[in-house]
Amino acid sequence: MNDISAFMLAETKRAYEGLDDESLAILKAHFPNDPIRQRAIDEVLQARGHPSIVCPQCGMRSYNPHDIAERYCGACHEFHSEMRR
Ligand SMILES: [Zn+2]
Repeated sequence: MNDISAFMLAETKRAYEGLDDESLAILKAHFPNDPIRQRAIDEVLQARGHPSIVCPQCGMRSYNPHDIAERYCGACHEFHSEMRR
């Protein structure tokens, strides 16, 4: 990660720390292709002690309780058990 990315991540985290969990979940779903935003949201939610699951195929972290229970990836639209390794 370069200096600009690190700065953007810190600024984004600072902005997101004031939002509630539901708003963060909505933002996370709206910007699937924005790695800075995704990482900022992940780090804020992790700091709050939220359980999460990481997709073995694409690496996306999800905080959705249904995804965790079903071991499902919303980015791949596949269950982890059905993925080819
Ligand atoms: Zn995935």
